[in-house]
Amino acid sequence: MGIRTGAQYIQGLQSRQPEIWLQGRRVTNVCEEAVFQQPIREIARLYDMQHEEAYREKITHICEETGERVNNAFLEVKTPADLQARRALYEAYARATFGLMGRTPDFLNVVLTSLNSNASFLEKYNPQWAENARNYYKLVRDQDLFLTHAIINPQNDRSKSSHEQQDIFTHLGAVKETEDGLIVRGAKMLATLAPITDEVIIYSFPGFKPGDERYALAFALPIDTPGLRIICREPMQDGLRSVYDHPLASRFEEMDAVLFFDDVLVPWNRLFLYNNVEAANLLYPKTGIGQQPAHQTGVRGLLKLQFATEVAMRIADSIGVDVYLNVQNDLGELAQSLESIRALLKTAELEHDVTPSGELMPGYIPLETIRGLLPKMYPRVIEVMQIIGAGGLLMSPTDSDMAHPELAADMEKYFAGREGISGTERVRLFKLAWDLCGEAFGQRLLQYERYYTGDPIRKRAIFYNNYKRAHACSMVDEALGVYESKKSTKAGSETVPQ
Ligand SMILES: Cc1cc2nc3c(=O)[nH]c(=O)nc-3n(C[C@H](O)[C@H](O)[C@H](O)COP(=O)(O)OP(=O)(O)OC[C@H]3O[C@@H](n4cnc5c(N)ncnc54)[C@H](O)[C@@H]3O)c2cc1C
Repeated sequence: MGIRTGAQYIQGLQSRQPEIWLQGRRVTNVCEEAVFQQPIREIARLYDMQHEEAYREKITHICEETGERVNNAFLEVKTPADLQARRALYEAYARATFGLMGRTPDFLNVVLTSLNSNASFLEKYNPQWAENARNYYKLVRDQDLFLTHAIINPQNDRSKSSHEQQDIFTHLGAVKETEDGLIVRGAKMLATLAPITDEVIIYSFPGFKPGDERYALAFALPIDTPGLRIICREPMQDGLRSVYDHPLASRFEEMDAVLFFDDVLVPWNRLFLYNNVEAANLLYPKTGIGQQPAHQTGVRGLLKLQFATEVAMRIADSIGVDVYLNVQNDLGELAQSLESIRALLKTAELEHDVTPSGELMPGYIPLETIRGLLPKMYPRVIEVMQIIGAGGLLMSPTDSDMAHPELAADMEKYFAGREGISGTERVRLFKLAWDLCGEAFGQRLLQYERYYTGDPIRKRAIFYNNYKRAHACSMVDEALGVYESKKSTKAGSETVPQ
């Protein structure tokens, strides 16, 4: 089939009946549920972009194997040009969503492509797992499917490993093998957009200990697999909010969910890893399923940072406060932050790594540096926005106030900004800012930037340990060597016979 349209994506959703729970009730038709309609529309728009003249060549390519047009997320990256084709895709999707939707279809489809390119890693443990991964990649590529993922165990007792939890099936684990496949039970989180996806993929960060064998699992299933329950968090909007009052929160909220597996059957051909702690711990570092998507998240993060910075700049300008040194200092800092990320991304693309299978990966060090910096830079943009917007962020009237015949003239007068900025313009600008820096929607976006790919603190510690291994700190030896060589020269001169 190749690239789908938005309408085909929606038809796919309508053809399934996943078990979705929202505020204590079963959702029977996800496409008719107000909370989900807007994000469905945004995802459908991304599918449509694949067919548009302006994007088709940029974000899709002809698959060598099938001759069909497929998304660049499925491109096996062998050359710097391929890497640029990937970047063009990430940029197009992030621009269309202002970087505010993190789990657009490209994110996990890139994970699958990397798993396919490095399936030889699985082969040495079990050739069937490798074949399953390759076949699954083809299925998702050719049907242009949209995936969610759940790779974290629920927060029960983090000081204990999975097999030490009170109930051994709290964290998702294998119950028994059957002729048809593996029965799994337990919970996994935090499956963003799960209710509006086609499939779910399960794998885990490293950290398995001996005794955790039943939890060492990787597999994928249709989202409507019997026994799979999707429990949504409380929505941050009701799906009916005015686009005028909430220009971002009304459009880009991504629902998050925890998944309960109630003795779910994973067919053998959908299993990529099982019962092997070593393989589960090496899956991440050996298959690039972290490094390739980090390119996507880097590009998306840059766009989000840029968007938020632009909003901060515009609100400062609109009320004439960017004539002050302190405000210029804060805004200059934001601009320098985003330019640092832009430079790091370029470095990552130039200083790429090549895997034994010939896959080209954007550089680990610059990507991890982005990963370390963004969770500090993004909250700082939000803080600066709050500091500059100050009371005005709270004092925004609604669409109905602005339009009311009795109030409209006063509204225009009293809400006007500096000369040249009308009341309507300023109010709309401040509403945009409030969605990012005040609304629950904006707080989720901030939390996302901290945690979307694991705990930034532990990630930075891992980065440091790798960095230490690769850097011998030879300049220190060199500097210390000056003293040693002077000492030996001096000692030598003392032995010169008189
Ligand atoms: C908005 C949002 C969307 C997300 N979307 C997805 C998604 O689509 N799919 C998905 O799988 N995941 C998703 N995640 C989950 C994300 O992967 C996790 O939040 C992240 O890995 C951190 O895990 P945790 O939340 O369980 O925190 P924890 O690991 O429980 O950490 C909590 C705190 O305890 C500390 N801590 C915990 N354990 C240790 C330890 N061993 N050593 C030192 N300190 C420790 C941490 O530093 C942290 O401060 C999302 C998260 C957010 C916030």
